[in-house]
Amino acid sequence: SLTSRLQETFQKLRGKGKVTEADVKEAMREVRLALLEADVSLDVVKDFIARVRERAVGQEVLKSLTPAQQVIKIVHDELTALMGGQAAKLELAPTPPTVILMVGLQGAGKTTTTGKLARYLQKQGKKPLLVAADVYRPAAIRQLQVLGEQIAAPVFTMGEGADPVDIAKAGVEHAKGERLDVVLIDTAGRLHVNEELMDELARIRDAVQPTEILLVVDAMTGQDAVNVARTFHERLGLTGVILTKLDGDTRGGAALSVRAVTGCPIKFAGMGEKLDALEPFHPDRMASRILGMGDVLTLIEKAQAAVDAEKAAEMQQKLIRAEFTFDDFLEQLRAVRQMGPLEELLAMLPGMGQLKGMKDLKVDEKQLKRIEAIILSMTPEERANPDILNPSRKRRIAAGSGTSLQDVNRLVKQFEEMRKLFKQFGKMAKQAKKRRGFR
Ligand code: GDP
Ligand code: MG
Repeated sequence: SLTSRLQETFQKLRGKGKVTEADVKEAMREVRLALLEADVSLDVVKDFIARVRERAVGQEVLKSLTPAQQVIKIVHDELTALMGGQAAKLELAPTPPTVILMVGLQGAGKTTTTGKLARYLQKQGKKPLLVAADVYRPAAIRQLQVLGEQIAAPVFTMGEGADPVDIAKAGVEHAKGERLDVVLIDTAGRLHVNEELMDELARIRDAVQPTEILLVVDAMTGQDAVNVARTFHERLGLTGVILTKLDGDTRGGAALSVRAVTGCPIKFAGMGEKLDALEPFHPDRMASRILGMGDVLTLIEKAQAAVDAEKAAEMQQKLIRAEFTFDDFLEQLRAVRQMGPLEELLAMLPGMGQLKGMKDLKVDEKQLKRIEAIILSMTPEERANPDILNPSRKRRIAAGSGTSLQDVNRLVKQFEEMRKLFKQFGKMAKQAKKRRGFR
């Protein structure tokens, strides 16, 4: 798959301390092949590679990132840009109801997505109306009615004999009368793009003047999805695309090319058959997913802003030599907090997102503040030599920081245990080195 191929490529880069121009060239050759295999269109790939190469070669090496990480970051940034950069929001009409026209080929997922989108809007406090304007397949109206029942949303129908344009118009009027905020019009599809279909959709569009014309395309059809999107856009003027079945698409080609080829933003992604399996499309997250790294890149970016790698190494040495002081501790604490809430940072680690308990894990901000207050109430001498902390000093610190003697004792104890532990690590490391030396 695209993800595993890219990971392999970057794995090779990671092994190197310094990345040469030749390394980048080789990596880009592999990225290029991987993208083409994932069914991304050739023009898009060429453009993409050129941009990445230009940025990767001769670029200044940041201290906190290894060169390999930098190349990955550039690829990630460019993938994100390719998919539109920013997440695109659903447009709502200034005066309700907002009319959303759902278009696409048969089996793309229009009807299902109409239900999902209604559910999504309900969660935002909106009252959607589903309009059944697919009159060609007998089961289509019933399918929408069932979805409406599942989410307790009203469904407007006029039966199989009615004209889709009339149904759409009457549906919008109905929504106005019932003070419903959003009208979602489910239309018919065909197996292939044809003039009859386009003509009918254009007539519905002209009759109801939708705020959004959303093309629903099956991501698993890859390059075909891109061609369909191009045709629909030329003919109808789309405002956005919804990629369905992204849960089954291992190649990611459609996600990568649709925006670049049509200029239409991808607004949502269907991630399964269930009604809540619709997500706003985030280009950066999709890029991470394609690169197969969770949100590691976000983590790298944050680390880049907050911590200097050299300093971190220095800190590690201090810890091992047990020279780590309360001042160092405070500095670390602040660096970590600058990076953002701890639970957010933990969630970005690969694999952590999937852990069940993660959501309930709250790192106590209050406690961090208390620790900071206690350290700040110590004299510089006390911070540098925690050993001199006797009961009377501790009482003074507790009073000064507005905490209890217990709080101070707990922190000092934890700190000492940490130092002890690291001292042992240090010894073990030294012994291991010696043993290796004797061999
Ligand atoms: P329509 O002909 O465009 O209205 O397509 P439907 O809404 O009837 O969907 C066709 C099939 O695709 C159904 O079996 C859906 O359950 C399935 N489907 C739709 N969206 C998704 C999705 O995001 N993921 C998966 N796995 N299946 C989907
Ligand atoms: Mg349908």
